[in-house]
Amino acid sequence: MSGNLYARFEQVFGANAPRIALRSADGAAALTFGGLARGASRYANALGALGVEPGDRVTVQAEKSVANVLLYLATLKVGAVYQPLNTAYTAAEVAYFVADAQPKLIVCDPARQAEMRALGDRSKVFAVVNLDQEGNGSLATMAATMDDRHETAPRDGDDLAGLLYTSGTTGRSKGAMITHANLESNAGTLVDLWRITPGDTLLHALPIFHVHGLFVALNTAFLSAASTIWLNRFDVRAMIAAMPDATLMMGVPSFYTRLLAEPAFTGDTARNMRLFISGSAPLLADTHKAFQARSGHAILERYGMTETGMIASNPHDGARVPGTVGFALPGVSVRIRGAQPGVLEVTGPNVFKGYWRMPEKTREEFTADRWFITGDVGAIDAEGRVSIVGRARDLIISGGLNVYPKEIEDALDAIPHIGESAVIGVPHPDFGEGVVAVVTARTELPPEAEIIAALSASLARFKVPKRIFEVAELPRNAMGKVQKAELRKRYAATFGSLSIM
Ligand code: AMP
Repeated sequence: MSGNLYARFEQVFGANAPRIALRSADGAAALTFGGLARGASRYANALGALGVEPGDRVTVQAEKSVANVLLYLATLKVGAVYQPLNTAYTAAEVAYFVADAQPKLIVCDPARQAEMRALGDRSKVFAVVNLDQEGNGSLATMAATMDDRHETAPRDGDDLAGLLYTSGTTGRSKGAMITHANLESNAGTLVDLWRITPGDTLLHALPIFHVHGLFVALNTAFLSAASTIWLNRFDVRAMIAAMPDATLMMGVPSFYTRLLAEPAFTGDTARNMRLFISGSAPLLADTHKAFQARSGHAILERYGMTETGMIASNPHDGARVPGTVGFALPGVSVRIRGAQPGVLEVTGPNVFKGYWRMPEKTREEFTADRWFITGDVGAIDAEGRVSIVGRARDLIISGGLNVYPKEIEDALDAIPHIGESAVIGVPHPDFGEGVVAVVTARTELPPEAEIIAALSASLARFKVPKRIFEVAELPRNAMGKVQKAELRKRYAATFGSLSIM
């Protein structure tokens, strides 16, 4: 059988044709699995008419919509490579991705058509078409006129299905080459592990330009024939209104904190829910506990990244331990060489093929025995349970000693006045790096010296932040990750202006 992931979906869609696959949370629209298959065929024929061939990249910077999902499926179906981009990127930023990926086709928002056309002309892109947030636009118009049958292109498992650029907080953003086999094995494993069945209804409010909303959420729903309630963006009231009809939710930690901030969110809201899953950024143990107290559900935290898909997960049955990301997935291995905590390395069928046109970078980020170096610092206990301490590049070395930001952040978060915290290292004339904390206030903060004194009771002196800054909000990206590189820039001159950053 073909290694094309869509060939697997096609079987599921055929066997479940009359059932609802996707419906919008406001009830305005619904699509059956049969409709999904026919729509994917129409879009596949449109891609063909636009000159897209197996192996070609299709760059997509369009809002989340059902039409965009059909485009994703169609791209797989014709054997091309889906390259989604964060909708927040400016045209100047998109120029880099287009020049690097060299797509055959760009799909953008209608408002950007002229800018993208100009960009496309420079980069020899064949065609530029558009889709708006309602799923209308020149591509949708074209697809509507197409035949609803299409022969799925045969592909090897090792062929590319997606090209996903890493967020690139340092250096150039790199295109991670994700194969059909990567996606199929990872989604299959998660369906089994999280017991996703046709009886499930997934509440989907994540963006689909990222691995979480695209591959983890959609691929597992499509493989298992679970039905999906669709929100084009996260809206906490709409989530609460839709949740009684759902059994499964996948979210970033901020979904959970925002739900908790709504008194209308209660155990009754979650009465039909079977499983809440969190990932993409660390879930605070406090959020886990507060959520359990409110809803009766222990959030299942998992860990993964663009290059690897999902790596580890707390168990479906058994203890979901707050502050840990659980065990390596079946078929996936995780290790730390040397002392703990240390950098996590991973191998398995989930691990990507390498960075697009960067053989040097690819070599650097794999070990000699082909394990991928995640860049995350973690610890693995005797049972194999993994905890993440932070990114290796966020590690602070102060006076020659390692400081792991998470330990300090946990100590800060335990202070009742503090809402959230981020701990960074910035240049320091004596210590190389000095520890700085940036915090939000839950209630009025005590004086800085008092917080420092409180931390000194539990932390060794070299770990205690020398300065604590209050901010209204921590800077975060679309997936809720705190932007530490941004904070390091902002506070670079804290200990003098010796910074060369
Ligand atoms: P991305 O490639 O955008 O998905 O980002 C992957 C990174 O997100 C990982 O390398 C981790 O640093 C972080 N991450 C993902 N899930 C978790 C988690 N459950 N806890 C802590 N960090 C996480």
